[in-house]
Amino acid sequence: MRRMKILMQMLLAIILGCVAGFMLQGSEGGAAAGVVREVGFVGRLFMRMLKMLIVPLVLSSVIASIGSLGGMSGFGRMGARTVGLYLLSTFAAASVGLLMVNLIQPGFVNGQPNEQIRKVFEVVGEEAPKAQQDRFSDSQQNLAADWHQLFEKMVPSNVIEAATDNGQLLGLIVFSIALGLAMMKLPGEKGRSLQEVVSGFHEAMVMMTSWVMKLAPIGVFCLLVPIVAKTGGEVFQQLGKYMLTVFLALFVHFTVILPLFLKTIGRLSPWQHFLAMREALVMAFATASSAATLPVTMRCVRDKAHVSKEVTSFTLPLGATVNMDGTALYECVAVLFVAQVMGVSMEWGAQVIVVLVALMTSIGVAGIPSASLVAILLILKSSNIPNAEVAVLALLAVDRPLDMLRTAVNVYGDSCVAAMVGQADKKRALEEARS
Ligand code: ASP
Repeated sequence: MRRMKILMQMLLAIILGCVAGFMLQGSEGGAAAGVVREVGFVGRLFMRMLKMLIVPLVLSSVIASIGSLGGMSGFGRMGARTVGLYLLSTFAAASVGLLMVNLIQPGFVNGQPNEQIRKVFEVVGEEAPKAQQDRFSDSQQNLAADWHQLFEKMVPSNVIEAATDNGQLLGLIVFSIALGLAMMKLPGEKGRSLQEVVSGFHEAMVMMTSWVMKLAPIGVFCLLVPIVAKTGGEVFQQLGKYMLTVFLALFVHFTVILPLFLKTIGRLSPWQHFLAMREALVMAFATASSAATLPVTMRCVRDKAHVSKEVTSFTLPLGATVNMDGTALYECVAVLFVAQVMGVSMEWGAQVIVVLVALMTSIGVAGIPSASLVAILLILKSSNIPNAEVAVLALLAVDRPLDMLRTAVNVYGDSCVAAMVGQADKKRALEEARS
């Protein structure tokens, strides 16, 4: 009942945040701008609280889950299933994106490249405010753009540095897995008591998450007001068809593909799973960051979808970093859209390569706002599509609402895989108990 109340409050916060944001739109100076600034400040504080939980939560949950998995074989089995399902769902998402962008063809008008959008790219891209360009180059540092960089992220030379790598948790996760395995191998009481300490620490982090969640309605409201207040303008109209394509593709993945996976592979009720995940979805939508949402995702999957602590603690931190269905889908739509506008024809072979590259780069994209635009730039450049920079800066101008939606799909994808792995684990435990 109480949690239901929080959810309702969060939904109300979204509505009120949008209304207040609209009312404050275009407030360049004066009192209204001051209000937007201060409200934004509270939103940022809330975001910092969520982020503050990430590192200790990931560290303690991964170590604790390795401990309770009972050795290398348990860990290997779960790891293989998790990675397999992550790859499958991301591949499906990217394919949905590809299909939709070919069906709707947002970059064409009467079968020809849309000249007007090309002009919008040039104008918006070249005039993109410095703040946007800075945000863009900030996220550039977080992308693991090729296999070498991905492996370098996995093997950090300094674990403290890895922990501060904004939204990119791979290094921290690999270190935690190794530490968890080492703890298990320690002889005698030492290993066990260390495990207990980490487990207790993890429970404390879960409790801190529930405290932060009490502030969620205020946080959601304060995050949304400045976003809506600063949004708007002609670019949104010009790129409307493109935004609609992204929206429809995300919608299909969210309402058809993932539920199908849940039903057929997991033998789970998609509706029940959706109900369990609502708080995390709202949070993902408001923060546009799967890393910042991770504490809430873990709470929902464990407490409401009733997936075991071990599975939740391992699959979700990994998923928040490497599994991004919405992002892979978005990358495909964006790249093909820009190619359409620029009049670069892409045969099916080239499109399949875009799907594969989107799959790979989505693994390296950090779970922070607008991180995937760097990956899009990379794919555009490697496909020799002209004016890639200005096009991506124009996409950045309309990115926030799309980012909010794809982050929700990213988080939902992680949670579906966690639920399916959890179900397989329960089944195996039952069979073992019977035999
Ligand atoms: N904002 C997304 C996330 O955190 C990443 C992206 O697609 O930009 O999951």
